[in-house]
Amino acid sequence: MEEKILEMAIIGAGPAGLTAAIYGARGGLDTAVFAGPAAGGQLLMTMDIENFPGFANPISGFDLMTKVLTQAKRLGAQIINENVREIEVSSNLFTIRAGQKDYKTKTIIIATGAQARWLGLPSESKLMGKGISGCATCDGFFYKGKEVAVIGGGDTAAEDALFLTKFATKVYMIHRRDQLRAAFLLQQKIKSNPKIEMIYDHVVEEFLGENKVEGAILKNVKTGDKKTLNASAFFVAIGHTPNTEIFKGKVKLDNEGYVEVNANFETSVEGIYAAGDVCDRIYKQAIVAAGSGCMAAMNAIKHLENK
Ligand SMILES: Cc1cc2nc3c(=O)[nH]c(=O)nc-3n(C[C@H](O)[C@H](O)[C@H](O)COP(=O)(O)OP(=O)(O)OC[C@H]3O[C@@H](n4cnc5c(N)ncnc54)[C@H](O)[C@@H]3O)c2cc1C
Repeated sequence: MEEKILEMAIIGAGPAGLTAAIYGARGGLDTAVFAGPAAGGQLLMTMDIENFPGFANPISGFDLMTKVLTQAKRLGAQIINENVREIEVSSNLFTIRAGQKDYKTKTIIIATGAQARWLGLPSESKLMGKGISGCATCDGFFYKGKEVAVIGGGDTAAEDALFLTKFATKVYMIHRRDQLRAAFLLQQKIKSNPKIEMIYDHVVEEFLGENKVEGAILKNVKTGDKKTLNASAFFVAIGHTPNTEIFKGKVKLDNEGYVEVNANFETSVEGIYAAGDVCDRIYKQAIVAAGSGCMAAMNAIKHLENK
């Protein structure tokens, strides 16, 4: 029997990948999503989503992504619960190697997301979503009138700290060095904001609390001295790593490993698109990922029509 050729192969089943699948399937394409062991993406790590349109009340990441997955399946997208190991790029047909099989496809949408970098402390995993967050835009609103802390010293950490001053009464910024790495203008804004207190030369040794975070033990990297900082939330802002290892040398990546795309979400290879956090250095929000998944899929459909 001749092997079936997919028209759209989507790698990754977060908001970007599953939205692309909805548009691919509704566009009449033979669409498959390589979802890894569990579809859903990063939102599975969060309990309360309040900023995804369409839900008047908070919805958990699991419930939201189950709905999106069900929708994609109902419309005819095939979900393959395998990690993609490799892609082979050729001029007219691509090969995807996943599990024990090879799949041929006319287009690919890369939607493998990015991972927030964490400190790697056991207390951090225990209290994740219970006061430990990787997203100030997503969770800052929950800490109105509270004292919070941001960990990091780059642009994202500085922007997060400034954003959090809208809600929190005080924002500590914990940085392991004796000066910020953030852009000069951001540094000026940080310094002139009375709600922000810098804690230089310190790292978090452990977070405190059982069912919600109550504080952290900080260690001075120069003297070794330790102190306790009480705060209702800690925002870890030490960067993201895009999931692009398997695409190195296949499509163009930028210096931080994000897939480079143009305004049509086309990569450096004709017929291969990218969407969501894997190509988004700035927003990293579910609605943006979903929107770019839609755009990538619509452009892939157009590309096939014009072939
Ligand atoms: C704790 C937390 C809370 C958040 N809260 C909010 C919020 O309230 N509101 C909001 O808008 N955003 C929130 N975000 C951000 C949001 O989750 C992301 O912006 C969004 O999930 C990005 O979607 P994506 O589809 O690009 O990637 P992802 O959601 O990262 O999905 C990519 C998927 O691809 C899979 N994958 C990777 N490599 C492969 C491979 N080789 N083969 C197959 N599959 C692969 C990954 O395992 C993952 O499942 C939050 C993020 C975190 C971490």
